[in-house]
Amino acid sequence: MAKNKMTGAENRSRAAEVYKRLRKAYPKARCTLNFETPLELLVATILAAQCTDERVNIVTESLFKKYRKPQDYFNAPIPQLEEEIRSCGFYRMKARSIVKTCRTMLDLFGGQVPNTMEGLLKLNGVGRKTANVILGECYHTAGIIVDTHCRRLSNRLAFSKHIDPDKIEQDLMKLVPREDWTMFSHSLVFHGRTICEARAPKCSQCCVADLCPFPKSAEGKRIAR
Ligand code: SF4
Repeated sequence: MAKNKMTGAENRSRAAEVYKRLRKAYPKARCTLNFETPLELLVATILAAQCTDERVNIVTESLFKKYRKPQDYFNAPIPQLEEEIRSCGFYRMKARSIVKTCRTMLDLFGGQVPNTMEGLLKLNGVGRKTANVILGECYHTAGIIVDTHCRRLSNRLAFSKHIDPDKIEQDLMKLVPREDWTMFSHSLVFHGRTICEARAPKCSQCCVADLCPFPKSAEGKRIAR
């Protein structure tokens, strides 16, 4: 496929076809963090920075039995919380972020996780990516979730030429119908984890290869991103 010189309408149609194929390829695409409440998802997303979802799920299995409300985190001795989340990495920073976030929820939101983008962005350690995860998974408000996979695939598929996640989010919002924003993001993530890997994309196994302008000469080679 030639370098992307398509019109907006052609790109929307291409994005729709990519989404259709990815949904078929990954019918179980979803958020892979385990949670039952908005607070649990919020804590899990903070722990997931620079860590795998699998590791986070191991840690939160016991953590969520012990800490059920924002007050529980807020009242916990920081060294104890650090120890409990240590294996997720950056545990000092993450422990403080969780406690600060819980304090803000107690101060401003009656101990609840806010259900708006504006409210969520007031929480420590919560950016648009985390906010969109929570809105999409807990509050039925679809959002584009730009993580490292979504960013890489959006660039390779020429859905966005930007590196900045907020700009990529804006580009994808124009290409994908609102109701599909959350699942479109999850589908890209699943494809990025299994086929369109960061350093060595498996283009010959890719179900959207004919729709992707990324140079196939990069197949299997270690590349920058
Ligand atoms: S063709 Fe290659 S670069 Fe394009 S989406 Fe598929 S795996 Fe990724």
